[in-house]
Amino acid sequence: MPPSTAARRRPSPQLRQRAERIAAQLACDYADATCALRHASPLELLLATILSAQCTDDRVNRVTPALFARFPTAAALAAAPPGAIETLIRSCGFFNAKARNLRGCCRALVERHGGEVPRTMDELVRLPGVARKTANVVLGTAFGIAVGVVVDTHVQRITRLLGLTRQRTPERIEQDLMALLPPDAWIDFSHRLIWHGRRVCSARRPRCDDCSLAALCPSARQPAARPAAQSAGRAVGRSRKSAR
Ligand code: SF4
Repeated sequence: MPPSTAARRRPSPQLRQRAERIAAQLACDYADATCALRHASPLELLLATILSAQCTDDRVNRVTPALFARFPTAAALAAAPPGAIETLIRSCGFFNAKARNLRGCCRALVERHGGEVPRTMDELVRLPGVARKTANVVLGTAFGIAVGVVVDTHVQRITRLLGLTRQRTPERIEQDLMALLPPDAWIDFSHRLIWHGRRVCSARRPRCDDCSLAALCPSARQPAARPAAQSAGRAVGRSRKSAR
């Protein structure tokens, strides 16, 4: 179910204040953070985001130049000969399903939107291969429209470590973040948290000693107190009371 104003939880003033301080610190650390998927148009970003499911942005960036050069428009990609897309995107994994989604998405763009990428959540999530996360990426990065918060694996993991949510699904985590942060913070907050996940708070080994958020993070590892903040659930669970 998509987040709605009515469905949002009301966070405590303390939690909201801590979220805003976290957002402000991330803004200092990663002022220029943006989407890592290379693109020159909303269409390219949409297609690259579909390709990025269960695949690294680096890998997507390696295949998209040839894909976009051969099929520069939605109409061209919708009419791609059988096997042509699959060959170009094979290294991204799940290439048969992704090729089906790319082709179906572009057909829908041609048939319903004149080959252009629509600018509303409702229209975007009706396209094949496009769920709420992809729609949020396109609306936020390509059009500067904030209707939600992008919740990828980094955002999902780190917001739980930070005690900003107890939820486990991206949809519910998004609801919590939308209730905590003002709409004009939604787009950049995700980009910056993703950068933080790649540079400092990695899933494998969070570098709490070097983290600018440590004073605001209930999961921050105390020197010699515990081996690592490897389990978001355990770490958040231990410090939930003090975090809220
Ligand atoms: S203090 Fe540690 S667990 Fe918390 S955000 Fe920073 S690196 Fe991640």
